[in-house]
Amino acid sequence: MEAKKETHAFKTEVRQILNLIVNSLYSNQEIFLRELISNASDAIDKVQFKAQIEPDILEKDGEFKIKIKPDGIARTLTISDNGIGMTHDEVMENIGTIAKSGTAGFLEMLKQAQSADLLTPELIGQFGVGFYSAFMVAEKIVLTTRAAGAPREQAVRWESTGDGTFGIEPTEKDQRGTVITLHLKKAGKDEPDYTDQWVIRRIIRQHSDYVAYPIVMDVEKEIPIPDNEIIKDKTGKPIGETKRRVVEEETLNSRKAIWTRPKEEVTDQEHEEFYKHLAHDWNPPLTRLHLKLEGTTEYHALVYIPAKAPLDMFQPNRKHGIQLYCKRVFIMDDCKELIPEYLRFVKGVVDAPDLNLNVSREILQQDRLVMNIRNNLVKKILDLLAEMPADKYDQFYAEFGAVLKEGIYTDTNKRNKIAALARYKTTFSEDKWVSLDEVVKRMQPDQKEIFYITGDNIKSLINSPHLEKLKEKSYEVLLMTDPVDEWALQALTEYEGKPFKSAEKGDLDLDKPDERQKEEFNALFGFIKGQLEAKVKEVKASARLKDSVACLSGEDYDMSAYMEKLLKAAGQKPPEVKRVLELNMAHPVMTKIKALFENDRHNSALKEYCQLLYDLAVIAEGGKLENPARFTRQVGEVMTQAIAA
Ligand code: ADP
Repeated sequence: MEAKKETHAFKTEVRQILNLIVNSLYSNQEIFLRELISNASDAIDKVQFKAQIEPDILEKDGEFKIKIKPDGIARTLTISDNGIGMTHDEVMENIGTIAKSGTAGFLEMLKQAQSADLLTPELIGQFGVGFYSAFMVAEKIVLTTRAAGAPREQAVRWESTGDGTFGIEPTEKDQRGTVITLHLKKAGKDEPDYTDQWVIRRIIRQHSDYVAYPIVMDVEKEIPIPDNEIIKDKTGKPIGETKRRVVEEETLNSRKAIWTRPKEEVTDQEHEEFYKHLAHDWNPPLTRLHLKLEGTTEYHALVYIPAKAPLDMFQPNRKHGIQLYCKRVFIMDDCKELIPEYLRFVKGVVDAPDLNLNVSREILQQDRLVMNIRNNLVKKILDLLAEMPADKYDQFYAEFGAVLKEGIYTDTNKRNKIAALARYKTTFSEDKWVSLDEVVKRMQPDQKEIFYITGDNIKSLINSPHLEKLKEKSYEVLLMTDPVDEWALQALTEYEGKPFKSAEKGDLDLDKPDERQKEEFNALFGFIKGQLEAKVKEVKASARLKDSVACLSGEDYDMSAYMEKLLKAAGQKPPEVKRVLELNMAHPVMTKIKALFENDRHNSALKEYCQLLYDLAVIAEGGKLENPARFTRQVGEVMTQAIAA
């Protein structure tokens, strides 16, 4: 077969990332090996999982391992695995591009970081450049791979010097899986030699000790020659060699299932390394939970909460973080059945010895044992969060609060527990998060409801005209800026017996507008309503406003303005809901308009003023004007008149 070699340019984002890797001097280059070993271990997980249904793809080679082969003379280091391997298309997809969701966000962050000093390993680690980190130590990488189940001549050879292009061509490979050969850069004076077996042993001990599969290396050893094979003289004295040099495969990692060990015995350092391998994260975790449950539901769990949110937290194709084991044997990755969506940031391992080994994903969902473990795990994780010291919890909340709050909506049983964990900025606490408990505790004696307002920006919320009267009465208002809050509130109608109440919807039940005054404004409001018929469903006297002249409100069951905005941003077409225009009868502008109206209701300026009142209400809540040009023209005219007078 004529091998056809193709050369491709890396996608721009890969080039940018490669540049960054090659040019940033990491203090910790050696972690490239952990990244490659973690990939190899994932690939073996995958083939093992697939073989549960299609045993043939193992091709009678079920002895999983990762092999490291240093060559000091050629200056290469080779890492091979008998995992799932890749097809041509998969290599193109995985190694030629960064198929990862969040790449755009990452690059945006880089752009913002601008100065290279800000490109800390933590930042890069948060993204996880994985495979590409090998270019820190290699000037050329050759990857040969064959997908499990594909014929030997359908293997692929990929190579690159990391300078912008890569070559890819068909090749042959007997064993399934992937072989990665690094042609090492010249080691600097103080840099370790990655072909030195003692360097390799140390790195693997340190960073990859808990990988479940054996990481092996051929090691030359001297062994004694059996006595009957030794050539001896007449006196029985050996005249030939008594020792022989042999090459033996040695396993370099302990493979201890860290989660089955007694809690007290595992050090922080060990946890950190295990977590980094498991989560493909370069930062240590924020906290952990190590559980051993006995009784009817028996299981071990070791879960971690990361310190930083991954960039794909809100992408639909993100992975969940729980691996399922049965008696230390890997069953599956990404086990959604064991953890609800709103805890998807949790990474870890669950080992359930009584699990039926022939489980499929469909069956798992209904498995009683799995359901028990899930309930228990959720409870323990929520307890762990509730007991966290305040400053650590704030750190957690900044990263994952928005995800956790999804549970208020989705998990009926845990709703109140999660609501107690939620934190909000409020009109009393613009910079520091507070809990609902605190808000309830400082409610005014005559206050019956917990007030809130939703929107995308704290600053415009806190200055919203809807809050004027509430502020005057010293009622605290929650400023909700996470999109998820809108959904959470549909499920959470009260907390500690106190109902939630939107500051921008329905009657606020504050000081009622004066009835006689209302009567006086009736005719004017009718006129304004007539002018704005297409936009508002009602014009009424406001009980919310103190300083501003106008605002828009909704009825209790109307969709909030923010919800409407969110739905539109998500490409939906929410039904048009007309809102209520509320006017402040105590405002001097209203007195003047009323006088003008009573004097000459055909005055052409009145129409303009109706439009202006509406536009002012839209702007006050951070909304977009339908016709900004008309607004500026009108304001210009009004100013001219005011100054001339
Ligand atoms: P990550 O591992 O964080 O997804 P990488 O850049 O390290 O990112 O790898 C990209 C993808 O390439 C992996 O998700 C996997 O699909 C594939 N891959 C990498 N190494 C291997 C391997 N040894 N065997 C099979 N597939 C691999």
